Amino acid sequence: MSNQVCLIVGASHAAAQLSTSLRQEGWEDDILVIGDEPYLPYHRPPLSKTFLSGDKTIEELFIRPAAFYQKNNIQFKQGWVTVINRAQQTLTLSDGTKLAYDKLALCLGARVRKASLVGEELTGVHYLRNIADVQGIQPYVAKDKRAVIIGGGYIGLETAAALRKQGMDVVVLEMADRILQRVTAPELSEFYARIHREEGVKIYTGISVTAICGDGHVEKVLCANGVEFAADVVIVGVGVLPNVELAEEAGIEVNNGIIVDEFCRTNDPNIVAAGDCTNHFNKIYDRRMRLESVPNAGEQGKTAAATLCGHSKEYQSLPWFWSDQYDLKLQIAGLSQGYDQVVIRGDRDASRSFAAFYFKEGHLIAADCINRPQEFMLSKKIITEGLMIKPSRLVDESIPVKDLLSGE
Ligand SMILES: Cc1cc2nc3c(=O)[nH]c(=O)nc-3n(C[C@H](O)[C@H](O)[C@H](O)COP(=O)(O)OP(=O)(O)OC[C@H]3O[C@@H](n4cnc5c(N)ncnc54)[C@H](O)[C@@H]3O)c2cc1C
Repeated sequence: MSNQVCLIVGASHAAAQLSTSLRQEGWEDDILVIGDEPYLPYHRPPLSKTFLSGDKTIEELFIRPAAFYQKNNIQFKQGWVTVINRAQQTLTLSDGTKLAYDKLALCLGARVRKASLVGEELTGVHYLRNIADVQGIQPYVAKDKRAVIIGGGYIGLETAAALRKQGMDVVVLEMADRILQRVTAPELSEFYARIHREEGVKIYTGISVTAICGDGHVEKVLCANGVEFAADVVIVGVGVLPNVELAEEAGIEVNNGIIVDEFCRTNDPNIVAAGDCTNHFNKIYDRRMRLESVPNAGEQGKTAAATLCGHSKEYQSLPWFWSDQYDLKLQIAGLSQGYDQVVIRGDRDASRSFAAFYFKEGHLIAADCINRPQEFMLSKKIITEGLMIKPSRLVDESIPVKDLLSGE
């Protein structure tokens, strides 16, 4: 058979795994990864953590070194793909280059949601999605400089922790009644609000930003209630949108993400998709979803590679996430949406180590584990295998974690 070409668009977590897995699954022909960023695929999570706090260099962010891709004959090209022509099986790049494919993988990821605030164009106002964004923020990071963070989700809070660690004066402004409202229970929001206040971050909730002001450079943030916050730098973290337009314009089915089945197949037999850009079915929760997480990008990358090689590797992973703030390592197993009961193991009010378990109709559906890796592993097992455990048993700290299941 003649040489087959697999093109991968997007060069991040999903693409790094997909290209590697293609070789493992036996793809012997060409693999070319096209991404717009001027780097090999790199770990994005440290951007709001150790990279922002100055504890990691760019080289330390790379998922794999250049030598790995060379050894596996995985090629990279920097460019922006503007058109997919499915009939001709070609891609067009913004500089006019045309590339032909036999198989195509879309790993387009997500981009930041713009807040569209008056004054957003001032220097010193930043979003946070890639290395360039952090490089834009870094010149303003210095002891006693003032940072205002708009948005109290995980990225906003991780950014607050990283900047506070460097002695900055940090304010977080959240429109909802509590931080992390979209993703977690009030118990967790209260806990993180307490920790951030203990660390010296000022958090304001139920507050709406109306404008960012300054003369060329940002000077202050104005809020609807008339309150103003002085700022040397403003960081906006109000969520992301999946990059679907390229696929949509080519007639690939899209609905809050590129629609894929459990084998990461789109409605075109030659095109798969993986990572933040997809909308997929999750068997454990019996519904479609779009996830923004590294583990999901990795698992879908493996599944998509298998599919392209004609193998069958069904995607059926439990969603999981993590967040690092100060000395707190939060690990989240599953999705808590729709829970009807939450119970806590450990002392949430005074300590920095506990687990919150979410139940729905008697079944454990998710767990937020703070500095509790054992509870995290146990929760993953219970949810994935559909095991039953009583809330009263989970909260009983006299029972060691390793024995929690044996009495059930
Ligand atoms: C600051 C920050 C902290 C995070 N922390 C965590 C964490 O702690 N834990 C966790 O699980 N997840 C975390 N995430 C989320 C995680 O990084 C994403 O889930 C992951 O990056 C998704 O990988 P991906 O390959 O699907 O897409 P992305 O990483 O979004 O990469 C897609 C790439 O494709 C490029 N691209 C898109 N369209 C085109 C085109 N037409 N032509 C060429 N290139 C294109 C994009 O520019 C981008 O480089 C964090 C994200 C950020 C920004």
